[in-house]
Amino acid sequence: MPAADALAINGGTPVISKTFPPYRSLGEEEIAAANRVLRSGVLSAFIGASGPGFYGGPEVQALEREAAERFDVKHVVSVNSWTSGLVAAMGAIGLEPGDEVIVTPWTMVATATAILHWNAIPVFADIDPQTFNIDPEAVEAAITPRTRAIAAVDIFGQSADIPALRAIADRNGCKLVTDTAQAPGALLNGIPAGTAADIGGFSLNYHKHIHCGEGGLLVTNDDRLAERLRLIRNHGEAVIASDQCEDLANILGHNFRLGEIEAAIAREQLPKLSGLIKSRQQAAARLTKALSCLPGLNPPKVRPDSTHVYYIYGMTIDLERLRRDRDWIVKALKAEGVSGLLEGYQNIHLNPLFRHRIAYGTSGFPWTGLRSGDSDISYGPGLCPVAEQLHQQTFIGLNLCAHAFTDDQVDAVIYAFKKVWADLSKVALR
Ligand SMILES: *Cc1c(COP(=O)(O)O)cnc(C)c1O
Repeated sequence: MPAADALAINGGTPVISKTFPPYRSLGEEEIAAANRVLRSGVLSAFIGASGPGFYGGPEVQALEREAAERFDVKHVVSVNSWTSGLVAAMGAIGLEPGDEVIVTPWTMVATATAILHWNAIPVFADIDPQTFNIDPEAVEAAITPRTRAIAAVDIFGQSADIPALRAIADRNGCKLVTDTAQAPGALLNGIPAGTAADIGGFSLNYHKHIHCGEGGLLVTNDDRLAERLRLIRNHGEAVIASDQCEDLANILGHNFRLGEIEAAIAREQLPKLSGLIKSRQQAAARLTKALSCLPGLNPPKVRPDSTHVYYIYGMTIDLERLRRDRDWIVKALKAEGVSGLLEGYQNIHLNPLFRHRIAYGTSGFPWTGLRSGDSDISYGPGLCPVAEQLHQQTFIGLNLCAHAFTDDQVDAVIYAFKKVWADLSKVALR
């Protein structure tokens, strides 16, 4: 018989016996909105030619207006996923084949592959160990005469150091793009995340704060970039021909158009964003208050100029103060019933596509085979030591958009951590 307080990993009773219900932000409002569109019979009104149909149907246009107001930005361009949004953003800033774009290894892979879609070269810069966002000093060190843009990511719900990145971009004649998929509604110096870059934007996929199944919103205050984004979204090459617009003639378009049902659902989600953020922030505050006392566990650091919207609650462990490794700790927490745990995050620069430098065909294009000459950018272990160490050994995340996380549920998670840490402290070195 295990002791009454035995860890579940050793055969004791788990703290959490029933999985928490999944995060659910959809209600009657979204059902009514989807029905309204179905009844109208107009599921999309986009036409890939110049004229009113170029801008999409009534729900798409209303979503873009309402989102522009919500995020206090001049232009919102909706797209059918944020991955599409990233591809459109990299095209809109006018990358030439062989141009370099500096990007973080701690992101979802689309931030980096969007660069390759325009035959430009991703260059990885290491991250800050406290915020997990791209480190401006590492960005500075990665600048070369070929650098054309910086692609920052507001990872886990807190903005990257945009003022520092903006200064580096301006000094070097670069554009700044931000991937704010995980931080809609976060603020940096009071400004909504994503809107201080040349182009930013949000994901509306089903596991983000607000969603419509699949979708994305591009944001920009630049009229010309907004126009280019709309052209790439909707068969630009056909539209330009009918518009007789000479200086945009080289644009290559796609079909990145959002449907009317998705747009109508997203319109109902937008006003819910502030409340959803608030409940994530309350859960995070409750976690931080309790978990700060545990030796060798570091809760998220929020920069004084920022708010954090906690898509993921990112922690690190101090291996010198704990005799167990992360693998055991995560297994023990999972055994106690804690779900939504992430063991490490990402190291995009170590993905096979980058390591082998093969994106198109099999001959190394676009790193080789471009008229501008071969690229000397390479990828492999040791390129981003901070990111690699966090991913391999010390980072633990809790996905705060996996469940609603009521106070009772947060308290159960806290109790599971305390139970595991009580065992860890029996074997702690100091
Ligand atoms: C979710 C996410 C994406 C991709 O968004 P989709 O809408 O799923 O295409 C890109 N970047 C980051 C950081 C994300 O979290």
